[in-house]
Amino acid sequence: MTLLECPKLMEYGPCGGVRFDGSCEVSPHPCVFLETPTARWHGGGAPGPSVARQSEGAVRMRGLLSTRQIVVADFPARALDARSITECAAALTGRVDAVLAGDAGTARVQYSPSYRAHLIRSSGLDVWTGLNCRDRNRVAMEGELAGLAHVGVSGVHCVTGDHTLTGSRPDARPVFDLDSTEAAALARANGHLVSVAESPAAPPVDRRPSRLLEKQRAGAEVCFVNHCGGAAAVAAFVGASRDLGVTMRFIPCVPIVVDRASAELLRSFTTLVLPDGYLDRILAARDPFAEGVASAADLARSFLAIDGVAGVNLSGGADPGGEAWFAEALARISDELELVQ
Ligand code: SF4
Repeated sequence: MTLLECPKLMEYGPCGGVRFDGSCEVSPHPCVFLETPTARWHGGGAPGPSVARQSEGAVRMRGLLSTRQIVVADFPARALDARSITECAAALTGRVDAVLAGDAGTARVQYSPSYRAHLIRSSGLDVWTGLNCRDRNRVAMEGELAGLAHVGVSGVHCVTGDHTLTGSRPDARPVFDLDSTEAAALARANGHLVSVAESPAAPPVDRRPSRLLEKQRAGAEVCFVNHCGGAAAVAAFVGASRDLGVTMRFIPCVPIVVDRASAELLRSFTTLVLPDGYLDRILAARDPFAEGVASAADLARSFLAIDGVAGVNLSGGADPGGEAWFAEALARISDELELVQ
């Protein structure tokens, strides 16, 4: 297998979907990047924030990040449903610092990123928008980045994205004109505060920090740390990354489970590692909602105590019909953390 055989056409691989046994997210073969050195960023790097044009949303979020730790929450609103967006925003406005509006395997078709961000911002809520490389080529992504800057999003979360062979639209042909590292550079050049994801538990585990360093060189400033276990695992990844020279801000993902539906949705995440007993304790509780809120708040506090952690992302989703209720759970967890003023 050669790098050209990566189903996502990645140059700066591997993606976060490498299975625990080293096999590819969408083929039975080993990931083609397992045995290759980490690709060095050679795109020239992005201009620093003092010289690059900065979107109004980036200025606002950089200012907030310089003053305190933040709470971001996955935005649970139903796809293509403006009323659901308004309902969920009503629960979360003033109670989290921003919502992460990204991709969902169960609902690949969403409003375009900039229109979705416009609806969320119009509801009074700051938004950190996910932008994947699966559904758009670089020209379409540039158009979205311009729209997102105009809307005033707090940040752009650049991911390569799951392959179309996973999720609800396997009939669609994937694009993958760029990968996450290249998208990070493009978003930064368009004035955005750029975040990327890294999956510390996905093979090759020992090279995840070096891959993150290349994303930083491309222009990323924030790393959302995908579910990799408890505070010790997050601290080990942050420490290894900083030892290599990563100076990014880290925002670990906190798994949110308040019922069986949210547990099932979480289980669909790729390379998911949860703290020992986390799911079982919540699902066995007399009141899983209360236990889920309390457990998530405890885990978030343990992440926030790690040096280099700039905030937490409350991560998960709800069954159809339960979106506003799930948004209230996210808001209550954030209330318990007492960070948002
Ligand atoms: S796991 Fe990801 S990076 Fe590796 S070959 Fe498959 S699609 Fe490409």
